[in-house]
Amino acid sequence: MKSIVLGYPRIGEKRALKSVTENFWKKKITENHFSDVSKDLRKKHWKIQKAIGIDLISSNDFSLYDQILDMCITLGCIPERFQGLKGLEQYFAMARGLQNEEVDVTAMEMTKWFDTNYHYIVPEFIKEQRFALNPEKITTEFKEALKLGIKTKPVIIGPVTFLLLGKEKQEGFNRLELLDKILPVYEDLIIEINTLGAEYLQIDEPILAGDLTAAEQAAVSKSYHRLRKHTSGLKIIVANYFDCYGSNLDLALKLPVEVLHLDLVRCPCQLEDVLNHESFNNELILSLGVVNGRNIWKNDFEDSLKSIQKVINKIGKNRVWVGSSCSLLHCPNDLDLETNNSAIAPEIKQWLAFSKQKLYEIATLKTLVLQPKDPKAQQRFEANKKANQNRRESAIIHNPAVKKRVENLTDADSRRASGFNIRQPKQREKLALSLFPTTTIGSFPQTKEVRATRSRFKKGVISQSEYDRFIAKETIATIRFQEDIGLDVLVHGEFERNDMVEYFGEQLAGFAFTQFGWVQSYGTRCVKPPLIFGDVSRPKAMTVKWSSFAQSKTKKPVKGMLTGPVTILQWSFVRNDQPRSTTCNQIALAIRDEVNDLEKAGLSVIQIDEPAIREGLPLRQKDKKAYLNWAIKAFRISASGVRDETQIHTHMCYSEFNDIIKSIADMDADVITIETSRSEMELLKAFVDFKYPNEIGPGVYDIHSERVPTQQEIEKLLDKASDLLPVRNIWVNPDCGLKTRDWPETKSALENLVQTAKKMREKQSIVL
Ligand code: GLN
Ligand code: ZN
Repeated sequence: MKSIVLGYPRIGEKRALKSVTENFWKKKITENHFSDVSKDLRKKHWKIQKAIGIDLISSNDFSLYDQILDMCITLGCIPERFQGLKGLEQYFAMARGLQNEEVDVTAMEMTKWFDTNYHYIVPEFIKEQRFALNPEKITTEFKEALKLGIKTKPVIIGPVTFLLLGKEKQEGFNRLELLDKILPVYEDLIIEINTLGAEYLQIDEPILAGDLTAAEQAAVSKSYHRLRKHTSGLKIIVANYFDCYGSNLDLALKLPVEVLHLDLVRCPCQLEDVLNHESFNNELILSLGVVNGRNIWKNDFEDSLKSIQKVINKIGKNRVWVGSSCSLLHCPNDLDLETNNSAIAPEIKQWLAFSKQKLYEIATLKTLVLQPKDPKAQQRFEANKKANQNRRESAIIHNPAVKKRVENLTDADSRRASGFNIRQPKQREKLALSLFPTTTIGSFPQTKEVRATRSRFKKGVISQSEYDRFIAKETIATIRFQEDIGLDVLVHGEFERNDMVEYFGEQLAGFAFTQFGWVQSYGTRCVKPPLIFGDVSRPKAMTVKWSSFAQSKTKKPVKGMLTGPVTILQWSFVRNDQPRSTTCNQIALAIRDEVNDLEKAGLSVIQIDEPAIREGLPLRQKDKKAYLNWAIKAFRISASGVRDETQIHTHMCYSEFNDIIKSIADMDADVITIETSRSEMELLKAFVDFKYPNEIGPGVYDIHSERVPTQQEIEKLLDKASDLLPVRNIWVNPDCGLKTRDWPETKSALENLVQTAKKMREKQSIVL
C-alpha cells in the first residue's frame, strides 16, 4: 500500500507566491529572484509531504499561473499572437494580455475548472494547429526534487482532457481531430519522463467524470494504447476526480495503465461498481481518494477505513493506495496558522483539516491499515473519532427557528408579484433611463490604501469611526466620479468589502472564517472561503448602511449590491451533514431579508450577484436538473420579496450559458450582466437563440486585463449586441467588478464606455 497526493497547493502559506509574482509583474524584482522564491516554495512543499510520510508526491503540480497554461507551453500550443514573445513575458501575456509600446495582445480566455471556483486558461486551437514538445518545466522540477532525495511522480494533463478543455478558434473542424497531432508530442514527453528515471507518471483525465461521446471515449482509449508503447518501465496513474467514472468505467478499466484513481468523496458508491466489474483486471492498482481535496472537514477515519478494508479484502494490500480525492489545490494550506480564537473558535477548529493536516490524515490511514497497533496512529484514530463525534453533537450547529423557516417555504416565496412585462414599464418610469443605460458591476479599485486601511482597522490600529470616515470618503469620491463621467446607475464601490462572499460570511450566523485560509482562484488571485458549519441566519442588516449612504449622496439611482445564495454556498466550505440545497435555502432567506431592507431604505435597483451558479452544475447530465431546480429557486427566494418597481439585477461571469439558459431565464432577474468580452460576444448567442426576454448587459470589456479598451472596440461589441438583441433591453457595462484594477485604467476605460454608449444612442436616434 502507498499513500498518494494528487497535487499540493502552490500558492504557499499566506499566499507567498502572490506578492512575488505581482512584484515581478511590476518589475520590482528580477526574474532570478522570482525564480528563487518559486523554487523555495516547491522545495518546501515536497519536503513537507515527504516528512509526513506521503509516498507518491507530485512534481509539475506547481505553477506560476495555471497548470493548463503550463501544459500549453509544454505542448507548444501557443496562439499566433504570442509567438513573437519569449519566456515569462510570453507566458504571462497569454494569461493576462500585454500592452506596451511594441505589443498589444489580448489574453487567452479563462474559465472555471469543472465544478470548482478555480479558473484555467482555455487552450486555443486552429485547424492547422501545430504542437512541439517543450518539456523543460517538467524535467527541471523533477530534477529539483530528486536533488532533495525525492523521486516525484510528474503530473500532466491527459491528451483528451487537454483537447476537450480547449476551444476551436476557427470554424470547420473539431478539436478532437487534433489528437493524431498531439499524441506524438505526448509520446515524446513520456520518453523524456522515462529518461529522467521517474517510476510513476500521473495523467489527469478529469473529463472522465463527465458524459463522453463514443468518439471521445475512443480517443481516450486510443491515446493510452499509443502512449503505452513508449512507457517501458514507467508506470501510469490515470486520475479522474470530481465524480465517478460512470459510463466511462468500462473504458477506464480497460486502459493499459497500472493505476486508476477514484474520487471516493464525490462518489463513494462507485467502489462496488469497480470491484464487481467484469473488466476489472487482477493487476490494476486502485488509488482510493478518500481524503477530500475540496473541503476542510476532518476525514472520518472509521468510515474511510471501512472502504479501504473492503477493497483490501477483495484485492489485497499491494493493490490498494490511499490518498486525496483530487489535488489539494482547492484546500487552504495549513490549519496551524489559525491561531486567532475569535476568528475560528477552538470547538470548530477541532473539526477541520487543511492541506497539511490532510497529509497527516492520508499517512495515518496508511499506518492504520499496515500497522494498526502503532501507538501514534492509534492516538490519532481516537482523536479523530472524538472530534467527529463532538461535531455531530455540537449545540452551535442547530437553530430550530431557521430550520422551521426553511420547512415552511411556499411556492409564492419564490415568485415576484408580477411578470417581467408588467415590471419593465414600471421600472422604466421609476428609473427614467435612456437607451443603452450604463452601469458597473459593483466594486471599484481596491487600492493599496483601501486594503492597508482595512488591515489597520482589523488589527485595531485605527478605530471603527476612523475606518468608517475613510470608507465614507472613498464612497463619496466614487459616487462623484461616476456622476462626472456620466454613468447612469451608480454603485457605492464596495470599499468596505474584502471579498464578495467573505464579507457576508462574516456577518451571518452559522459561518466561521479563517485568517489565512487562502485558496487560489486564478493566477495570483486567491479567495478565503468562509466555513458554513451551522444553520445560517442574519442577525442584522449587512449592507444597508453603505448602500443608503451612497444613495443619499446622489440623485441618480444607486444599485444595492449583494452576493446571491448559490454563490455564497458555492464559494464557501459547506457543511457536509445536510443536503447543500437545505443550506442554500437558509442563505436565500437571509439574503431575501437583506433585499427587502435595501428596498425599504430607498434603493430602487438591487443586484444579487450569482457568478457561481454555473460552476455548481453537476458534471453529468442526469444530475443537472435537480441542482438547477433548487439553485434557481434559492435565487428567486432571495429576489422575490420586492415591489414591481424595484429592479433586480444579477451578474454572472466566466460561464458558458448555452446549456443552462433556460434556468437563467427562470431566475427572472430584471437585468442580467454577463461576461462576454473575452469571447467577443460569443456567449450572447445563447441568449439570442433562446430569445431571452429580460434586459441584458453584455460585458463590453475585460476587467481582468489592465488593457484599456478603445471606443471603437466597445462600439463594435455594442453593434454586435444591437444586431442580436432588442435594443431597448441592452445595458452597457464592464464584464465584472473593477476591484483588481487601478484607478487610471478604470477611469479611461469607463470614460470610453460612457462615450460609446452616448454614441450608440445617437446612432439609434438616427435609425429611429
Ligand atoms: N459585485 C462584485 C464586484 O463587482 C461582483 C464580482 C464577481 O462577479 N466576481 O466585485
Ligand atoms: Zn463577475
